[in-house]
Amino acid sequence: MEFLVAKGVLPGFIGLLLVLVMSGIFYICQAVPVIKTEGVYPAVRPLTEAHFDFGQDLIEVKLVDPPSINRIVVFAYDGNGRQVAIIKPVTKGIVTIVPGDAADYRVNFKEPATVKDYEILRESHDAKERVDFFRIITEAKGSLRRYGMQECLYPVCTRCMEVCPVIKVGVIQMLVNPKGAFYPVIHLEGCPRSGLCFAVCKVDVIIHPSKMSKKIPGNPTPSDPIQMPTEEDLKTLFFGK
Ligand code: SF4
Repeated sequence: MEFLVAKGVLPGFIGLLLVLVMSGIFYICQAVPVIKTEGVYPAVRPLTEAHFDFGQDLIEVKLVDPPSINRIVVFAYDGNGRQVAIIKPVTKGIVTIVPGDAADYRVNFKEPATVKDYEILRESHDAKERVDFFRIITEAKGSLRRYGMQECLYPVCTRCMEVCPVIKVGVIQMLVNPKGAFYPVIHLEGCPRSGLCFAVCKVDVIIHPSKMSKKIPGNPTPSDPIQMPTEEDLKTLFFGK
């Protein structure tokens, strides 16, 4: 033994052993998933309803139910069929919009109901690109174009779709309701219950089912078949009746 110590064999062996143990611990730590998978089907929070009061210099949006978070997207469609949106704070259930409030982003569509791309308007330093949201929503009301509010940040956010391990089979689908709001539909048949979509949705549009206080009409159950909308359905959803 003294011979081995003297020759440095034993310290070398112990060092090698330590390296192997540390490598094993490191491997196990790396193997632990960052997001815990839940094994339950996701639920989709219903769209929040609101009443819009239009004044000369102030628009008040009064939410019927408390929002999932204290910020919400108010949108209006412009004369080119684009959804112009602003993200606003909610104070005591009310959102206020005043002249000069700059829109945050604008969504361009290609027919029938497919998003082409979007533009972040706040990042522009060109004053001509500053879009006055008060003007856009007031014009939308006067021209009977759609306006409203939504919690989902699609297409600026696509987190739920990016993490879904089976997104290619269309489990998560983004639709536009007749009022022009984006909302996700989750086709539960085929959903692997990874729990990833509601883990990454920061605005609580897709949520753990335990957070759903009541059964939502139209929220599918696992036994419901996948019903992909026809082109006609999409046109109706996109343009309204
Ligand atoms: S993660 Fe949430 S906010 Fe983002 S696209 Fe999905 S549902 Fe919408």
